[in-house]
Amino acid sequence: MSRIAELAKKYPTLHKDVIVKWEMMVNGMRDSRDLDKVSVWRPASHGSYLSYDEDFTMARLKAETPWRVREDAVLLPDRLWMKTGLGFLLHRKERSPYVIREVSEGRFGIYEGGEELVYDGLYATPRKQRTAAEGVTSKGTPVQDLVELNRRCYRVVPVRFCEYFRAGEECKFCNFNHTQEDARSIGLNRPVTIAPDETAEAFKIYGSEVKLLEGFLESGGFKKSDTEASVNCRFVEQLSSALPYETHMKLVAEAMPRKELLRLRDAGLLGVRFQMEVFDERLFSVVNPGKAKHMSREEWLEAFQNAVEIFGVGNVAAKFVGGVTLQGPDGYSTWQEARDSHMEGDRWMISHGVFPSMQALRWAPGSPFSKDIANRQKFPPTEFFLDLAVAHHETMKEYGLYEKLNKFLYCGFCCVTNPYAGEVGMIETAGDIGKWMSDVVPYEQNWIAQFLDSLKSPAEKGK
Ligand code: SF4
Repeated sequence: MSRIAELAKKYPTLHKDVIVKWEMMVNGMRDSRDLDKVSVWRPASHGSYLSYDEDFTMARLKAETPWRVREDAVLLPDRLWMKTGLGFLLHRKERSPYVIREVSEGRFGIYEGGEELVYDGLYATPRKQRTAAEGVTSKGTPVQDLVELNRRCYRVVPVRFCEYFRAGEECKFCNFNHTQEDARSIGLNRPVTIAPDETAEAFKIYGSEVKLLEGFLESGGFKKSDTEASVNCRFVEQLSSALPYETHMKLVAEAMPRKELLRLRDAGLLGVRFQMEVFDERLFSVVNPGKAKHMSREEWLEAFQNAVEIFGVGNVAAKFVGGVTLQGPDGYSTWQEARDSHMEGDRWMISHGVFPSMQALRWAPGSPFSKDIANRQKFPPTEFFLDLAVAHHETMKEYGLYEKLNKFLYCGFCCVTNPYAGEVGMIETAGDIGKWMSDVVPYEQNWIAQFLDSLKSPAEKGK
């Protein structure tokens, strides 16, 4: 029996797409030329190399696969989607049991052990790829260097470094600053900061081409909350006034005091996600030394409650890294203990009106945890995430949080490919992600609904 079939048997209440998504997020796939068919040229400025792990570096990418590197960008695996509209970011892992191959044009299959086809319902949805010449600001900066556009969703990274690294207090799973050095090692330029006025100009260019629906600002960690709030306020103000319509703009950041949250709301921000990473009382400061100095764990929890009061239930999220509490000498010794502790965090968040999301733990080259080879043995299995998906869903229903959720907090258009975002409830309620978003987004802007319709046979369309 294939591993996916085995998981489907173990979790009969979960839709198979949820299982496939998490199996791919956890175990990834080995490299193959077919991955290039689902890859996009990412400008160096985006700087996230989450599509790779193990001991991967840009120098290695260039040496082993030179066709994937050009002067201003690297070709990185993108996303594949399934018929429920759920998707996942392709994640290359050298020791994965899987290979992805194209089975017919635009349709891909997962091969276990490289031979056995175990799932063939994956679809590529090509996006329009820009070249630098296609859109530049008045200062000549390519708009895509300032605003990362994912169809109708956007991401802006005002400050591309994290202050915690300097003192060796970075989160132990993170390699954010190393990706700067990594990019520079092959001559890719990734500016550390960007100007709010030029970013607003880029935002305006994109926003006049397509109706931007939602997006977020995200930077590295700041030692001082008032600096973090000031930087972000400037961006929120300028971006909000660049367009004649409102986008659902959120901030992904450290917890911050009430007065800074009020400043941000007054500047035009509609929601926040605090990157707490670890809920566990014992391990919060072990895994996140910089964040724990920034504010104590009690203050983080207080900040969530303030944020719910200020932005409203359904507009505040938390992020945890699934399984990170297993890493290092102080970590839990079994994945079940780590799972239970994670569930406690989910429950606290949901009961306080906060939507918890989860990122699968990655082996980020250059991060403190990646230096100890023993940590490689301590990755949680897919069951860790599926157990959490079931428990999360039950708790969301118990507290009625699905109904109160602002659907743009974790919109179905790009976020469903990333951290766990309530996908179990989305599919149970609506059947697919296109339908889940249909009451807040008209069909002509709902690219997932259009894409899913394009997969239907003429007979299915007639129904
Ligand atoms: S705050 Fe932590 S997760 Fe965020 S960039 Fe800094 S080290 Fe990385």
